[in-house]
Amino acid sequence: MTITPSFSSSAPTARFPEETQSAANMNALRDGLAQSDPEIAAALLREEERQRRGLELIPSENYAFPEVLALLGSVFTNKYSEGYPGRRYYGGQENTDIVEELARERAKALFGAEHANVQPLSGSPMNQAVYLGFLEPGDPILAMDLSHGGHLTHGAPVSHMGKLFDFTRYKTDGEGHIDFGAVREAALRTRPKMIVCGHSSYPRDIDYRAFKEIADEVGALTMADVSHTAGFIAAGLLNNPMEAGFDFMTTTTHKSMRGPRGGLILTQKAHAKKLDASVFPGLQGGPHMNQVAATATTLKLVGEGAFKAYARQVLENAKALANALAARQIKLVTGGTENHLMVIDTEASFGMSGDEAQRLLDEIGLTTNKQVIPDDPRPPMRPSGIRLGTPAPTARGMGKSEMESIAAMIASALSADAGKREEMLPALAAEAEALCARFPVPGL
Ligand SMILES: *Cc1c(COP(=O)(O)O)cnc(C)c1O
Repeated sequence: MTITPSFSSSAPTARFPEETQSAANMNALRDGLAQSDPEIAAALLREEERQRRGLELIPSENYAFPEVLALLGSVFTNKYSEGYPGRRYYGGQENTDIVEELARERAKALFGAEHANVQPLSGSPMNQAVYLGFLEPGDPILAMDLSHGGHLTHGAPVSHMGKLFDFTRYKTDGEGHIDFGAVREAALRTRPKMIVCGHSSYPRDIDYRAFKEIADEVGALTMADVSHTAGFIAAGLLNNPMEAGFDFMTTTTHKSMRGPRGGLILTQKAHAKKLDASVFPGLQGGPHMNQVAATATTLKLVGEGAFKAYARQVLENAKALANALAARQIKLVTGGTENHLMVIDTEASFGMSGDEAQRLLDEIGLTTNKQVIPDDPRPPMRPSGIRLGTPAPTARGMGKSEMESIAAMIASALSADAGKREEMLPALAAEAEALCARFPVPGL
């Protein structure tokens, strides 16, 4: 199979070349998908078209490296590899052992950790493996509230983990910043066995040392879920929880790092055995070796200079977008961003719910997601905000001036009064499509 390297500068095209498909999808079609399952083949082509024409502003989404797409579709998917390198249950592991060992070594080197487990099938099982491996059902855990930036897997009442463990959820202060006084007070009151930090919608860097101090005071384990920010930590642009002495750092591999969908756990030597046993055989069966191979390559690419430049540009673009929105009197939670994402309070800015804002932006080809804001008075399906981020547009090669244009489009679409809006939307949609045409999706 031919693989186009991830950082080759693809020449900008003036229009959408309908006939060019990504290398990976071309393989799928060439290998008979179009004949054996025309409905799925057609959906695949339509999805390519959607990704090519639309502007992806959801901060957890990105474009996987072309090498990753190729490895996910490789024969590593055929292999069962229960166990760990050198200690497997089935034979024939000479190549899978190399792949998993490389992935583990690269992860350790990249984040400065003593041990890595690269087998979690995704972000949710990765966090479950830490809770279930190191705590007993009913144990108290302190984690960030979902509406204040935390994730479902940080003990939301609807999640199984939320029912199995006794979570207390800390909240942010009035401006949306982590309130360490409140975290410490909750820790002293509830004596958690583990303190969890990390987020899905918190637009600031995290002071891991402050968390570690509180955890040490009450004798709690520490876990940082950096699923959104691992790429920036790897590039040395955001704080690294392993440097602050955390017990566990968990991260998805498919968000800022542009790898396969999957999870990764880093820890210290003292926890290595217990952690590995918790992932397998505690929680999972055979690892997905096509995913592990793609993770290994991702970690190599993330360690290179070209990725560091990309990561730096993502953060610069986020600041530029936040500034351009603020200049248009649009209210952001915490007033800005220090990472790759921001949350617009659409209720305060436009008197509009987040789902309505998401729908209007969808109509002009900008994909965002509705988002609860701290202490949101509105329900999760009709919240007060939207969340946006810059990893995907930056992967297309967009820079500060494009962030200006995006802010202007968002402001026009959401601030126009309802009567004029219908007239304005088609022109804004054409503008967004023209912008996307100038910046092709990598690999497409
Ligand atoms: C995305 C995310 C996860 C979950 O990952 P899945 O792969 O969707 O299960 C966990 N924690 C955080 C903070 C996330 O942002």
